[in-house]
This record gives sequence, structure tokens and C-alpha cells, in this order.
Amino acid sequence: MSDDAFEAAYGRPAELAWHAPGRVNIIGEHTDYNDGFALPAALPLGVTAQVAARDDGVIRASSVQDDDAVTVPIVDLAPGSVQGWAGYVVGVIWAFREAGHHMPGLDIVVDGSVPIGSGLSSSAALECAVAGAVDDLFGLGSTPADLITVARRAENDYVGVPTGALDQSASVLCREAEALFIDFRSMDTRRVPLDLDGAGLRLLVIDTQARHQLADGEYAKRRAECARAAELLGVPMLRDIDDDGLAGALERLTDPVLRRRARHIVTENARTLQTVRVLEGQGDPRAIGALLLASHVSLRDDFEVSCRELDLAVSTAMDTGAHGARMTGGGFGGSAIALVDDTDTDAVTDAVQGAFAEAELTAPVIFAMQPARGAHRCDE
Ligand code: ADP
Ligand code: MG
Repeated sequence: MSDDAFEAAYGRPAELAWHAPGRVNIIGEHTDYNDGFALPAALPLGVTAQVAARDDGVIRASSVQDDDAVTVPIVDLAPGSVQGWAGYVVGVIWAFREAGHHMPGLDIVVDGSVPIGSGLSSSAALECAVAGAVDDLFGLGSTPADLITVARRAENDYVGVPTGALDQSASVLCREAEALFIDFRSMDTRRVPLDLDGAGLRLLVIDTQARHQLADGEYAKRRAECARAAELLGVPMLRDIDDDGLAGALERLTDPVLRRRARHIVTENARTLQTVRVLEGQGDPRAIGALLLASHVSLRDDFEVSCRELDLAVSTAMDTGAHGARMTGGGFGGSAIALVDDTDTDAVTDAVQGAFAEAELTAPVIFAMQPARGAHRCDE
């Protein structure tokens, strides 16, 4: 982002800027609320937050992507007190204050390149960029874990969206040419090599533009079904069933719906661990392709969270030579990913665009990526 947006908004230069990325989940879907595993990577797209301090207890915030700028006194901040996009920004200031930090006041301009509402986590990119910039501006000395907590509290407690820590962890901790393995029980994380460039590969991100209304209600249903299956099996969480215990567990579940839900979670955790093993063994990343496709099939047939657009993106990519492809994110719309040779990027993109046109669906937004860097100060 140029300095112009900040100058234009406030008539003075910014003191510093932070960038934080959106993320894509390579594998491990709907596993977070089952104490399971996930493997996100940072997008080369993100949000940049430029800041300068004020000493009058006021926050002014504006976005290059949104016309509604806000001016609010910090003393008045309480969960939900600012609605709309700026809630994510002032929520971070609120969370720092809740953590015991003095907040003197500041001007902020944000500028983002993550598609909004496509399941690529523009919200975490926004929160984490603001958290990094504010921490730096006031010299708060936050650890990465502190930044994740503050960003997550902004989303969960200030804006009021009940999400897990996957998005903020990925946005803060990811690195170039790596994915981030997350164990949601211990909240331990580990970086896993994912050098697509070195292997002549790209990850295609296919934002289907579909946003199906049932997403929120179905998400709550899946959570309840997983909790019920665990209860019937006498384990704290479905995480506690491993691949070896799957057959026995399935026999004990008489409800076919709960059986399918449990099978997805158990096999998805196993696929995520297997993906990590392949990548840490420094094998060819193409070898994870079959695991990605198996994840999609499981999400489609057992967990029943895919949709026509996601299935079409995946099947078309596979038919055009992708090594693997899957829906990513919660489902019912949003984005799919496909692992492709870099030489096939255009052919797969064209084929997916063609298939959507033929099906008379809105044209998807498609870009090729490799894992990018997590949150950082812009001049570093
Ligand atoms: P996702 O995180 O999947 O993109 P969410 O609904 O969680 O979708 O978050 C999207 C919200 O984040 C937007 O509605 C907006 O309030 C906020 N947001 C994200 N990026 C920006 C931006 N560049 N400028 C203003 N608001 C943004
Ligand atoms: Mg989000």
C-alpha cells in the first residue's frame, strides 16, 4: 500500500505499517472443534495496517475497501459498541486494553487484498495486521501468542463471531514455503515444509463466489452431531478415536448420520497426520494429492458440507491434471484448492472457468499461490 491513503485520510504520514496474510487450509477440515488437527498456509494476499499515535484517547479508522470511516473514544469501547468492518479494528484495541495495556489513541488506515467472505480469512488478516501495528506503535512487547489471543478476542468477544484459533494462528505464525500444523487439543503448532515452488507446483485457489445461506445453521448442526457421537462413544472428543479404533466405533454408532460424521472426523485427522508425515519426509508434495482428494470426498459424502460449485471446481481441476483438489473452509460455498504443476496453472484455470460458464454459474475468482509469510512489519 502507498502512504497516500493514510496522508489523504489524516493529513500526516503514518509512523509504521504491518502486513498480515489471509490463509488457506491445506487439509484438516471441521477438525478444530473436535480437538483434532489442521494444516493451514498463508496466502500471498493480506491486509496492511498503517498507524500513527494520538494522545487524546480517540481512535480514527478507515479502510481503502469501505467508505464508512469511524471516530471513537477508547473509553467508550465495549463488545459490539462499533458495528460493521471497523468492529474488527477497534475490537483489537479493546482486547489490548482488556489485557491491561494503556491505549493512548491512534489513527489507522487498512488496505486489503484478501477476497472478503470467501473463506480465506480476510477477518483474521485484518485483526492480525492491526494487532501487530498497534503492538509495535506502543512498544507493548507482545509475543506471537499474545497477538493471536488479542486478534481472536477481537473476533470472538468484541465482534461476536465464535471461531477457533486456526485463522489467527495461521496469519501470525506461518512462513514462506511452509504450512503450519496445529494440534487443537494442546494448541501446539509446528512448521511443516511446503516448498511448492521448488517442486514446480502451485496451489490454485478457486473462490467459487457461492455463499449458501444454510452455512451457519448447518455448521452448528455438525458441531452438535460431533459432540453427540463422542458422547455416545464415551470419549471427550472425536479426536480420541484413531484410525485403528474407527471400525469398532462405527459399529457402536447405530445412527447412520452420526456414523458418517464420526467417520469424516476420524479419517480427516488421520489424513492430516499422513500429509504432515509425507511433507516432513521431504517427499514430493505431489504425494499429498490423493489425501486432498480423499478429504474432499469425505467432506462431500460423509460430512455433507460441500455444494455443487465446490464439487464442480474439484472435479474439473482433477480432470485437467491436478494432483489433488478439495473444498477448503467450512463449506456451502467459499473456496476450493487444487495442487497443480506450475505449467498446468493456466489450463486448469481455463477449464474451471469454462465449466462454471457452461453450468451458468457466476465466474469464480482463481489465483495461483505458494505459501507466503505471516504477519510482519512492512519494512522488515
Ligand atoms: P472471511 O474472513 O472469510 O473473509 P468474515 O465474514 O469472517 O469472512 O470476515 C469478513 C469481514 O472482515 C468483512 O465483512 C469486513 O467487516 C472485514 N474486513 C476484511 N477485510 C477488510 C478490509 N480490507 N477493509 C474493511 N473490512 C474488512
Ligand atoms: Mg473470517
